Amino acid sequence: MDLDLVSPATSNDAAVSVIRAKAQLCSALERPRREGLRIGLVPTMGYLHAGHLSLVAEARRRSDACVASIFVNPMQFGANEDLSKYPRDLASDRAALEEAGVEALYLPSAESMYPSGFRTEVTVNGITDGLCGRARPGHFRGVTTVVTKLFNAVKPDVAVFGEKDFQQLAVIRRMTADLDLGVEIVGMPIVREADGVAMSSRNAYLSATERRAARWLSRGLAAARAAYADGVRQADAVLARVREVLASEPLARVDYAELVDADTIQPLDVIDRPTLLALAVFIGRTRLIDNTVLAATSQ
Ligand code: AMP
Repeated sequence: MDLDLVSPATSNDAAVSVIRAKAQLCSALERPRREGLRIGLVPTMGYLHAGHLSLVAEARRRSDACVASIFVNPMQFGANEDLSKYPRDLASDRAALEEAGVEALYLPSAESMYPSGFRTEVTVNGITDGLCGRARPGHFRGVTTVVTKLFNAVKPDVAVFGEKDFQQLAVIRRMTADLDLGVEIVGMPIVREADGVAMSSRNAYLSATERRAARWLSRGLAAARAAYADGVRQADAVLARVREVLASEPLARVDYAELVDADTIQPLDVIDRPTLLALAVFIGRTRLIDNTVLAATSQ
């Protein structure tokens, strides 16, 4: 459906409306909301790939008007992280979203998101303690705060996130339930390149040699799945196998490799329930994450 909004960027009916101001977003969504249409949201940091677009396709299936947001959120980056060099390509993202049939692209500025005097943070406890929560202190507070703000701006009925960021998805599910946000949270499987590498905007940082080395993450996951299929249930034994595989690639430096309960994200010793194997690995200076679920209920 078309939104009411006519932005200077909107020259024909099929074009995605590019919306930078929250007030403009609210007025664009007023009519579909009044008509009882379902609004879908896909939050992203841009530099879109097929993984992002799979979320958009699912959001469109589950809604009548689909909003994608692009916001490289300063609050979720640590002081030594890649905020300023995070890859950006608005023209290409916009074309991809137009092609995917998104109605609106919400592009808030950092100043509008965090005006001077901003003092509030949303914190989810427990689930954020381990994995990326430990490796990137403050990261999830940035994520939960910005997702809350995006939910308040768009007021979506449904929001779609990727299992690529499995812990993030668990944190957002917890937050949405705990704070009665009333948004249906949908998780989508990891989309991979043909050689098994999980698609990521950060893959753009990799040299050709590093890109080849990145294949070892999914090989590590495959080794764990093979060990599990062979009957290995001790977490230590599975992780030893994963580390051994990753150790064969000199460019790879493991930040963490852990097995945790897939619901609570707490460490476990024995794989006796759906269990997340989560990896964060530096390939050169680029930190990549990947994961797989062992003992999934559907397995
Ligand atoms: P990002 O732009 O990296 O913040 O990601 C935005 C959303 O896309 C998050 O919900 C991610 O989990 C999801 N996403 C990123 N990469 C992939 C992928 N390879 N497959 C599926 N979803 C992904």
